[in-house]
Amino acid sequence: MRSAIVVGAGTSGAIVARRLTDAGVAVTLIEAGGYDTNPAIHDPSRAGELWHSAEDWDYFTVPQTHAGGRRLHLPRGKVTGGSHALNAMIWVRGAASDYDAWERAGAQGWGWAEVEPVYEAIENDLLPVTDDYPLSPIQASIIDAAVQEGLTHNPDYNAGTLDGVSQEQVTMRDGRRVNTWTAYAQPVAEKLTIVTGREVHSVIVRDGRAVGVRLGEGEESEEVLADEVILAAGAIGSPVILLRSGIGPAADLTALGIPVVQDSPGVGQNLHDHLLSPVIFTT
Ligand SMILES: Cc1cc2nc3c(=O)[nH]c(=O)nc-3n(C[C@H](O)[C@H](O)[C@H](O)COP(=O)(O)OP(=O)(O)OC[C@H]3O[C@@H](n4cnc5c(N)ncnc54)[C@H](O)[C@@H]3O)c2cc1C
Repeated sequence: MRSAIVVGAGTSGAIVARRLTDAGVAVTLIEAGGYDTNPAIHDPSRAGELWHSAEDWDYFTVPQTHAGGRRLHLPRGKVTGGSHALNAMIWVRGAASDYDAWERAGAQGWGWAEVEPVYEAIENDLLPVTDDYPLSPIQASIIDAAVQEGLTHNPDYNAGTLDGVSQEQVTMRDGRRVNTWTAYAQPVAEKLTIVTGREVHSVIVRDGRAVGVRLGEGEESEEVLADEVILAAGAIGSPVILLRSGIGPAADLTALGIPVVQDSPGVGQNLHDHLLSPVIFTT
């Protein structure tokens, strides 16, 4: 039986672990955070409680020149479900033209013609995507006010046109959060070897191949070996693991005293994120 280590039981790791175990692979799923026992994860109205909580890596940016020099909070989930355990659950396919532009820029296989059927498959699979939930009168009046101001009401922003004002489509069932952990990995948990509360330090590379991962550092360090290693630790976590493994820009690694295993200039570079300006009133 082939074996695989999946690092991160978050949004993508939970799905990869499920798909591999369905395919008969012996999966070890390793998550730095704990299980999703915090009730605020499952009640979308309490999502705000999760920021700066034990389930949040609680990153901050470096001072941002274009935000008055402030350091901005960059929440990231540290729990089974990952960032999907504390995000806003909004289902947005994105703009077809963006996918096509990424493909033209070299991301082969990421054009809209290839990606759209994947979305359709996901939406008909285990993750419920719905806009069939009641709005509070205030929320409904916000949509009405936008239409009165002249914006187009868009009943389905995932149908091809993103513009307009819409009720959000979310991954929710009966008012409870559904994330990829609860939909994909948790139902087959007994088939997986799940390790929580352990941070993967680095990938073990022997003869140019990834053969496992190292958990923790120093005296508590432990090796876990497998045929395959899949990093699903997020846009920040995965490059961090690679850099600690000596896989990254050689000059940066050398400056930090990390022996270079492979010079990969792109690792850890070019992170893009969107600014969010929540406007919150007590009602
Ligand atoms: C507050 C917030 C709101 C958002 N709202 C939306 C939204 O409404 N709609 C939307 O589409 N997107 C939203 N996003 C973005 C979306 O949640 C992320 O893009 C997505 O969850 C990323 O998935 P991922 O699998 O790459 O990483 P994650 O889901 O973050 O999973 C990474 C997992 O790896 C674990 N990990 C990291 N490092 C290690 C390590 N060294 N060892 C072991 N485990 C490790 C983490 O603890 C985590 O569980 C939001 C994000 C946030 C933070």
